[in-house]
Amino acid sequence: MNTKFIIARNLAAVRDDIRDACVHADRAVESVRLVAVTKYAQWDWVEALAAEYQTFGESRPQQLAERRALLPDAEWHLIGQLQRNKVRTAVQSAALIHSVDSLKLLKRIALVAGELSIRPQILLQVNVSAEQSKSGFAPDELTASWDDVVVCHETVEIAGLMTMAPASDDSEKARPFFRALADLRDRLRSHDAGLTLSELSMGMSGDFAVAIEEGGTLVRIGRRLFAGLG
Ligand SMILES: *Cc1c(COP(=O)(O)O)cnc(C)c1O
Repeated sequence: MNTKFIIARNLAAVRDDIRDACVHADRAVESVRLVAVTKYAQWDWVEALAAEYQTFGESRPQQLAERRALLPDAEWHLIGQLQRNKVRTAVQSAALIHSVDSLKLLKRIALVAGELSIRPQILLQVNVSAEQSKSGFAPDELTASWDDVVVCHETVEIAGLMTMAPASDDSEKARPFFRALADLRDRLRSHDAGLTLSELSMGMSGDFAVAIEEGGTLVRIGRRLFAGLG
């Protein structure tokens, strides 16, 4: 079987599962968007996928910028940790930065955005599970620094929150973390009427159906799309 066929089949299966999860959760299918995570995909796989779908997620700003130059009409999201010295690249290339994991980074993005006269769209990454290995705001920390976050919204579009559940074979184990992110969003939203925080980026190949049931609007899926290749 060729690459194109395998990817088309995987994409159709993922879309079916997204649709099923929406129906199960009594949500509109259009309320959930797939971010096709291409961070470990070969370029010919990305090209094959691009024939059918064009919203991609990359974890490294440099690779995102390089790939975007090759497929400029696609929408490229940054989902991986962003170092200070890569902020300019990210702001210039990413349609949405999912991984803003500290107030310091947010302020840096606001500064660069001002210099470039760009209003970047970002999500605040929250370490709901409090795992050492994961970056992100602690929920309490985010609540405590909310006034400072809101100030940055003048130059940076703060569209919502993002999280990763702990790795597990059982997707039900992810549910409390996704629910906690949605609850946190509801609490933060009630602090300031100006910020709707409409996006919740949560759910990966193993747990996206549960994330959709808990209100996820962006699911970041890599492995499932490229299964059976390479
Ligand atoms: C790699 C990655 C994904 C995709 O994970 P899969 O298990 O391949 O679907 C999603 N989100 C983030 C932040 C990632 O780094």
